[in-house]
Amino acid sequence: MNFIETRGNDGQHPTSVTFSEAILSPIASFGGLYVPETLPQLGQAFLAKHLKSDYKTIAKDMLLAFEIDIEESVLDEALSLYDKFDDASNPVPVVKVKDDLYVSELYHGPTRAFKDMALQPFGKVLSAIAQKRDENYLILAATSGDTGPAALETFKNRDKVQVACLYPDGGTSDVQRLQMVTEEAENLKVIGIKGNFDDAQSALKHLLASETFKEALQKKNISLSAANSVNFGRIIFQIIYHIHSYLELVRQEAVAMGEKVYLNVPSGNFGNVLGAFYAQKMGLPVEKLVVSSNENNVLTQLIKTGLYDMRNKELIATTSPAMDILKSSNVERVLYDLFGAERTKELMAKLDSEKYYQLGAEELSKLQELFVADYCTGDEGKAYIKKAFEEHGYLMDPHTATCFKAYETCSEKPLKSIIYSTAEWTKFSPTIANALTGEIDTRDIDALKSIAKKADIEIPAMINELFDKEIAQDTVIEKEDIEQEILAFL
Ligand SMILES: *Cc1c(COP(=O)(O)O)cnc(C)c1O
Repeated sequence: MNFIETRGNDGQHPTSVTFSEAILSPIASFGGLYVPETLPQLGQAFLAKHLKSDYKTIAKDMLLAFEIDIEESVLDEALSLYDKFDDASNPVPVVKVKDDLYVSELYHGPTRAFKDMALQPFGKVLSAIAQKRDENYLILAATSGDTGPAALETFKNRDKVQVACLYPDGGTSDVQRLQMVTEEAENLKVIGIKGNFDDAQSALKHLLASETFKEALQKKNISLSAANSVNFGRIIFQIIYHIHSYLELVRQEAVAMGEKVYLNVPSGNFGNVLGAFYAQKMGLPVEKLVVSSNENNVLTQLIKTGLYDMRNKELIATTSPAMDILKSSNVERVLYDLFGAERTKELMAKLDSEKYYQLGAEELSKLQELFVADYCTGDEGKAYIKKAFEEHGYLMDPHTATCFKAYETCSEKPLKSIIYSTAEWTKFSPTIANALTGEIDTRDIDALKSIAKKADIEIPAMINELFDKEIAQDTVIEKEDIEQEILAFL
């Protein structure tokens, strides 16, 4: 199957590209994104066939249905990375919290956040393509905390790929920073920037536009690629666990096969919920896709009113930083699907030039047939964390907590809900310790200990070890010096 463009074709780009091409150069005509030409229709037969299948079997069958230009042996190797998760036989446990509420835990991989679900196999696939073509790639990443560790972990020691990862020094949690700076491999460079996440991101954009940088890369025979969530190579792996989670509910006899459920997703760049959207289109019985946000609530406003509005809005730093986003890139793929390329191009152009767009009444009702949304403040989130722990013995992170608000306000029908948990409690421990015990301003190490004591659980070894590991990456520089630093590394 080939991939086409959300904003139509500009006569410069090919009108359709293979999967490999779409993931190596993910930006399409007019700054648009690549989407599959059609989606495989899996339907009830696929669900019935896989009622007893393990995660990798479902994944393989779904990937084959996409008919992408990746050899089966590469897909097998990529999927075998799920064997490194806590439980090799089930990388995504689905846990009952109460009556009609289930949590699908997407954080049991090496860096303890949902980014591993896609980046683990994606790293293998990208490196296999680079090897086959005998080309060298540089992956540039700017991270606020979760993408960086997951990208470093997946590309570590892989052939033909180098990674330069920029993070705001002082702008991530201790655990997130340690996950990055203790990574030691010749093909990885981690760079702390004096500034915040916006500075890191704008430094990256600056670099991408720099002519001297481009020339230097050409001389070294290195091409640029991206591992961010607009890359369809990540999205494709984010469809699988929605199907798996539904089947888990059937297996647990929570729903009968075919019965609809709510899928409730803590959302930022809209990649996770986009996977759910595609799963539904491929035949998963979904009542509504519930989009949960924090105080940066552009998505709630869009889904409730049809207005996507970034005017006079400043990014708010919240306790769920992986969802702190104003321009949510993957929404574009839904616009394309519902309204076509011409309208998508028009809407995205309007967003670029005037910082907003407004959907028409008919368009809004189409969107609302599929999605509902709400947002949750940091204080509300902390109250949900405390309540889930005290009433149900369930420990969760602040991103997951945002879903509990929408679960209460958006589930109109008496159907089961699946909430997606995107991070382990260990990654955002100061907020959780604050919610559970009231302590403030704790460092990660102390917060981890107090949560472990309170919940009578152990701090996972891979997190505990971080604090004793040697720092392998100690570069912290001014953003003006990034280009030079990366070229020296290459
Ligand atoms: C990335 C991330 C999200 C947001 O996911 P999107 O696909 O960008 O919507 C939510 N929670 C955590 C912990 C994340 O790392």
